[in-house]
Amino acid sequence: AVRPEDWPRGYMPELAFVGRSNVGKSSMLNALTRRTGLARVSVTPGRTRALQFFEVTYRPTQTARPRKVRFCDLPGYGYAKVSKTERDVWASMIEDYVKERKDLQAVVLIVDARHEPQPSDHDALAFLRETCGRKVIVAVTKIDKIVKSKRVGPIGVVQREMALEKGDAIPFSAIEG
Ligand code: GDP
Repeated sequence: AVRPEDWPRGYMPELAFVGRSNVGKSSMLNALTRRTGLARVSVTPGRTRALQFFEVTYRPTQTARPRKVRFCDLPGYGYAKVSKTERDVWASMIEDYVKERKDLQAVVLIVDARHEPQPSDHDALAFLRETCGRKVIVAVTKIDKIVKSKRVGPIGVVQREMALEKGDAIPFSAIEG
């Protein structure tokens, strides 16, 4: 979808995913849905320029009835080589969606386990949480790159630096599933 008229209709709980270009968002969506190639793993960072919606059917347990959730893949940010005009288009497309979308329950902000949150991550968090009043869950991805005994470290850093409630910084690895 590039315009609000294109947003899917019919209520179901929705989760949006956002992060710096190349952080591992496509890999996360593919891992969560167990569909390689559902979201494209980027060749050129910063290429996705529309909101991509995915309707997902899942079972909370093996015997439970199937439920539905919708994922919204938001274009990545922080890619240096895009023009200001392009950045403005990104901002307004995301702003309309995050501010207006009634179905949206929470935004998953993805950061890299190997680095402290970057200025653009803080900007995104402030925008989503303070400006738009959304619940933000921070997924700390590529955790497989950190040895198992040291994984609590980056989670604690993210939790503290981004002033998150306990449990709102979640380790993730597309490789380890
Ligand atoms: P996107 O631009 O945010 O959609 O990022 P991609 O999903 O295309 O991933 C960017 C790069 O990081 C690719 O080379 C991926 O293989 C790699 N990557 C993504 N997730 C993980 C992960 O959990 N662990 C590791 N080790 N690499 C990852």
